[in-house]
Amino acid sequence: MSADVRKVIIIGSGPAGLTAAIYTARANLEPLVIEGEPSSTSDQPGGQLMLTTDVENFPGFPQGVMGPELMMNFREQAIRFGADIRTEKVTRVDLSARPFGVWIGDPDAAEPTYRGEAIIVSTGAQSLMLGLEAESRLLGHGLSTCATCDGFFFRDHEIAVVGGGDSAVEEATFLSKFASKVTLVHRRDQLRASKIMQDRAANNPKIEFLWNHVVDDLVGDSKLEGAIVRNVLTDEVSTLPVTGLFVAIGHKPNTDLFKGQLELEDNGYLITGPGTATNVDGVFACGDVQDHTYRQAITAAGSGCMAAIDAERWLEANLDEH
Ligand code: NAP
Repeated sequence: MSADVRKVIIIGSGPAGLTAAIYTARANLEPLVIEGEPSSTSDQPGGQLMLTTDVENFPGFPQGVMGPELMMNFREQAIRFGADIRTEKVTRVDLSARPFGVWIGDPDAAEPTYRGEAIIVSTGAQSLMLGLEAESRLLGHGLSTCATCDGFFFRDHEIAVVGGGDSAVEEATFLSKFASKVTLVHRRDQLRASKIMQDRAANNPKIEFLWNHVVDDLVGDSKLEGAIVRNVLTDEVSTLPVTGLFVAIGHKPNTDLFKGQLELEDNGYLITGPGTATNVDGVFACGDVQDHTYRQAITAAGSGCMAAIDAERWLEANLDEH
C-alpha cells in the first residue's frame, strides 16, 4: 500500500503543535496533525496542559483558564481552518529522504503510513520520575504525576508533593483543596518556584514544607501507605504517613523517535536554529521538545507559529523541486 502524502505533517498536539496547525491550515497547507494517544504519558493529546489546572498566565484570559479547556479551544480552532487531526501514535520516522516517512502501528512495515513534504516536530516533554523501583508498582495506586487527574481521590487524606519548582507548588496548592494536609518535600531549603506561587503556598495553612529531604522509597504493595524520606544534611530517615504522593520534579523531552536522525543536545532536547529549523532540511521543531529554558504554553505557542511560517516559506521555495 502506498503512503498517504501530505504537504505538512505535525507530530504532537500541545500548544506548539496546534498553533502550527492553525497557521499552516490558514496558509492552505492542509496539515495532518498526529496528536498522540490518550493512554500514553509521552503522547498525551493536548500535551502537558491536559494534566494541569488553572492557567493564569496565558494572555487573553484575565480570570485564568483550565489547561484542558484551553487545549480544547486550540484544537477546535485548528479544525475550523481544516487541520486533519488523527488520534494516533507515531512509531517511526524516516527523515533521510523526501517526502519524509511517518509510521503509525508496525514500525517494521515496509511502507510508512504517511509521507510529508515538511515535518513539524512538537512532541513536547514528559514528567520525570524519581527512579525508584516501587514507582512502577504504585503509579496510579497513590503515586501520581497529575494533581488534576487524581486530586479528587485524596479528599481528607494526608499527601505529599515532591519538588520545588512551579509545578510542585502549583500541585500542592491545588491539592490542598482536597487533602487534609499537603507536605511539600524539597531537596533544598529554597524553592525554585516563582515568588507569587511561593507566597501562595507559604500562606496556605494546609501546606507544610519538608526542607532538605528526598524520597528514598515508597511503602505499600498494592496501594501507597507512606513515603520513606531522608534528610540530606543529617542522613536521618523517617516515614511520611501519606496515601498520596505527587511527583513534580521536572521533565524530559520526547525525542526518542528522532535519535540518530535529528541533532540533539546532551540533555536530549532537539537543536533548532536559525528559527525553528533542525539539521534536516524541511524538518522544523517547536515547543518544549526544543526548549528547556522557557517551557511556557505561550512560548510554545509562539514557536509553533514560527515553525508554521518557516515550513510555509520552505515549502514555497522547495516543493516544486520533485
Ligand atoms: P523545574 O522548574 O525544573 O523544577 C523541578 C524541581 O524538582 C526543582 O525544584 C528540583 O530541585 C526538583 N528536582 C529535580 N530532580 C529531583 C529529584 N530527582 N529529586 C527531588 N527533587 C528533584 O520543573 P517544573 O516545576 O516542572 O517547571 C518547569 C517549567 O514550567 C518552569 O519553567 C516553570 O516556571 C514552568 N511552570 C509554570 C507554571 C505556571 O506558571 N503556572 C506551572 C508549572 C510549571 P532543585 O530546585 O534543587 O533543582
